[in-house]
Amino acid sequence: MLKFKMKFLERSFSLTPQDILEKYYGYTEFRPGQKQIIDQILAGQNTLAIMPTGGGKSLCYQVPALLLPGLTLVVSPLISLMKDQVDSLRDSGIHAGFINSSQSWEETRQILAAAANGELKLLYIAPERLEQPGFMERLQHLHVALAAIDEAHCISQWGHDFRKSYLALSSILPQIQSQPTIIALTATATTEVAQDIMARLDVPPENEVKTGFARPNLAFKVVKGQNKNNFILKYVKANRNSAGIIYAATRKKAEQIGAMLQKAGIKAAVYHAGLPEDVKKKNQEDFLFDRLSVIVATNAFGMGIDKSNVRYIIHAQAPGSLEAYYQEAGRAGRDGSNAEAILLYAAQDMQIQRLFAENSDADEKHKEVIYHNIQSMVNYVNTQTCLQKFIVNYFGQDMEDCGTCSNCTDDRQETDITVTTQKILSCVMRMHQRYGRKLVAQVLAGSKAKRVLELNLTELPTYGIMHDTKANQIEELIDYLTASGYLTMPDPQYPTLHVTQLGADILRGQGTVTRKVAIIQNNSANPEDSELFERLRALRYELAEKQGVPPYVIFSDQTLHEMCS
Ligand code: ADP
Ligand code: MG
Ligand code: ZN
Repeated sequence: MLKFKMKFLERSFSLTPQDILEKYYGYTEFRPGQKQIIDQILAGQNTLAIMPTGGGKSLCYQVPALLLPGLTLVVSPLISLMKDQVDSLRDSGIHAGFINSSQSWEETRQILAAAANGELKLLYIAPERLEQPGFMERLQHLHVALAAIDEAHCISQWGHDFRKSYLALSSILPQIQSQPTIIALTATATTEVAQDIMARLDVPPENEVKTGFARPNLAFKVVKGQNKNNFILKYVKANRNSAGIIYAATRKKAEQIGAMLQKAGIKAAVYHAGLPEDVKKKNQEDFLFDRLSVIVATNAFGMGIDKSNVRYIIHAQAPGSLEAYYQEAGRAGRDGSNAEAILLYAAQDMQIQRLFAENSDADEKHKEVIYHNIQSMVNYVNTQTCLQKFIVNYFGQDMEDCGTCSNCTDDRQETDITVTTQKILSCVMRMHQRYGRKLVAQVLAGSKAKRVLELNLTELPTYGIMHDTKANQIEELIDYLTASGYLTMPDPQYPTLHVTQLGADILRGQGTVTRKVAIIQNNSANPEDSELFERLRALRYELAEKQGVPPYVIFSDQTLHEMCS
């Protein structure tokens, strides 16, 4: 054994990262960020690597693993995929093993013994295992040179996939005597999450390596107001020869779409956590090896799956966060050829996500994050800026408009909606920023809904000033204004609307607001009501004129002052 170890060490010193890349992987060039990350690791610097899905994160720790004397511990939440990853490493001639809950203690003991003998370069491990009593002691017999934390966002409560066992890593890792270098990797970190990861894993801020988030070959589309089943059926039939993934929020929905496609003669299968292991495995493999063209799945499918020729991802329902969406959508077009990421949206989809949140056992702080994440998704579907730019901005970067998304290619006329915006914002102010979108819309539309009457909201000067627009269209406008940053919901759990600084400027008459859809007039409005509203409106106009302000800017100076200070 010692002989083997010596041989390995010798070899390690004479090889460069470039040699490893060519020899073990057969690639000629590093992708953006990879070389820098590898160099930092080899220099013993703790590093946070943020690269998009498919960007090539695995290689960033595998290459150093082959160069460093000692073992690389890879912490990964993906028990189901560990074996596949380890198998594929072994196929490339890399000595790797894994430890997870599917194994007996005897198996674990053997693997640890192999690691202690220097027979392994990489050891994949589920985070729960590290927490088990006695495990740390066993680990101390190994010389761990590098600890790679894959999917590192799981450590942060601000992330979309927080896991308690990950949190424990911040106290466990420093206990390892050999004091390994730490590399944390993730595809989805907002600035907040990144800072959290760095604090917990002791990564200095200058050691964050972030590559571009933009995926130029992906065309993002948001489709609203269509029959989803019809859309999916038509799309899949038209793209019969391409591989695609359809994501649904629930198992039931996934089953239903899967059955619909199969009935239409499409080679489709379903994948979710409720299926037996062997069925899941078969469906996954059939998809990977192109025996299926479509897989209909819940979010249980995809993490770590490396199928390069996926041409489209359709979300039949929106996931619970923009991070999750980008990660799932990012599974299309890994080969660099054009691909589409389509989100079929209906407002009630977010209800499902809110329901998940309400029924989850998350604590208050975490629930807040969940609601915040849901709102980021709502903002995404309601924005009219470039969709990819919107996402990239969300992750704290900037880019030019992509030119291919459904917003970039939307050729409808821009309409000036400044006055409408002022009406909405002043109504929010008049309601003391204490109510949600639905009630605000009802007040503006002049609704006689029970709650409006109960709360005496008919007395408000903004009551009915948009009576020619339907309440649900006003709600849409409110969503658009929220997505565009004129309104905000600071406490997403109780989604009360607040006017932002940007909104306050619009109220003061500074700046204009545009939107690419004409505001549809409500033709079915009761003519008598209309007359009444017209009279009321005329009165307000008269009053406003006397005061020298436009009639829709209905707010007290004091409120505005408070808001802006
Ligand atoms: P991530 O974990 O960032 O989502 P992976 O590590 O799974 O991505 O890599 C995605 C794919 O890119 C894999 O097939 C991998 O072999 C490939 N890849 C990684 N680095 C390179 C490179 N330098 N050149 C070509 N292909 C690469
Ligand atoms: Mg990965
Ligand atoms: Zn775009």
